[in-house]
Amino acid sequence: MTKLVLAGTIRADIGMPLGIEILLAGKSALDAIEETIKIIEDNEDDWTVGTGGLPNLLGEVELDASIMDGTTLRAGAVASIKNYKNPISIARKVMENTPHVLLVGEGAEQFAKVMGFEQVELLTENARDMHKDFLDGKGITKKPYDTEKSFKAKERYFKSFQDMVQNAKLMDWYRDYVANNHGTVNVLAKDKDKNICCGVSTSGLSFKFPGRAGDSPIIGAGNYADSRYGAAACVGMGELVIRLSLARIAVYELSKGATVEEAAINAVKSMKDLSPDKGSVSIMVMDKEGNVTAACNWKNYYYWIATSDEPIPQKKECIFVDLALEDVDGVGYHR
Ligand code: ASP
Repeated sequence: MTKLVLAGTIRADIGMPLGIEILLAGKSALDAIEETIKIIEDNEDDWTVGTGGLPNLLGEVELDASIMDGTTLRAGAVASIKNYKNPISIARKVMENTPHVLLVGEGAEQFAKVMGFEQVELLTENARDMHKDFLDGKGITKKPYDTEKSFKAKERYFKSFQDMVQNAKLMDWYRDYVANNHGTVNVLAKDKDKNICCGVSTSGLSFKFPGRAGDSPIIGAGNYADSRYGAAACVGMGELVIRLSLARIAVYELSKGATVEEAAINAVKSMKDLSPDKGSVSIMVMDKEGNVTAACNWKNYYYWIATSDEPIPQKKECIFVDLALEDVDGVGYHR
């Protein structure tokens, strides 16, 4: 029997029990991915995606998402969409109900409306207060509705943006945006028919310029799946991922016989090609057998995996690729 596999990034564990149940019930990888990501998008404690995601500079939550079916190579995506809580489902509708791959902004919202998606307010009280503090140039203040865990993560995240505002140096801030400031969910799945699919959803960079889209809705950059070889998806500084077409290249490497470890590590190493530009990037890779790994250029980062053999999601450490090491030079894909 085909091994069923569901893999998700650090905060995906909340949705994965349902996702693996869907695969175990014989349903498709696309269904498992969509339902897993919907739960994550609806989690208000997750400030990187969906409801509760941190807003753009204007205080509006703008979401990016994409989904790809590795068997047909069909894909759908939405970027900078406001007021709809499950962009992953809208992305799937773009894939299944339109001849297009990517709809953005107002057009994406129009499409969501036509397809019957309900309009909601995505900006939570918590996110609104953080945005206000941000505009006021204040530090982050603890709110009664912050959990200890979410507060710590947000505090770390906020510091980067506070520096940016105080120094008014966007390029410098962006270059420094390297260590702990990430927020995207990636989910990869393999179903009983050996379809390998990939979904990605995010509120993108917090306090970003209105209309800024990252790698997550860009097929080939933040998301790529081809059931003949595998799939890959990214977290991190979207502009760098777009410039390297990272997910597509990792899957291409698989097609040339690379292991998931080689594909993931080489993808992260290729960040060197963008020098002096740098930043944090993580990539999760699945091959056609359902082997999964993830690599990134910072320490203590995790992903989750659930399979038909072990349906309870297991936490795994990402491979740390130290880009400061000399021997990393010249090993990236693009040299
Ligand atoms: N990749 C996302 C973006 O650039 C953000 C992140 O993963 O941290 O929009």
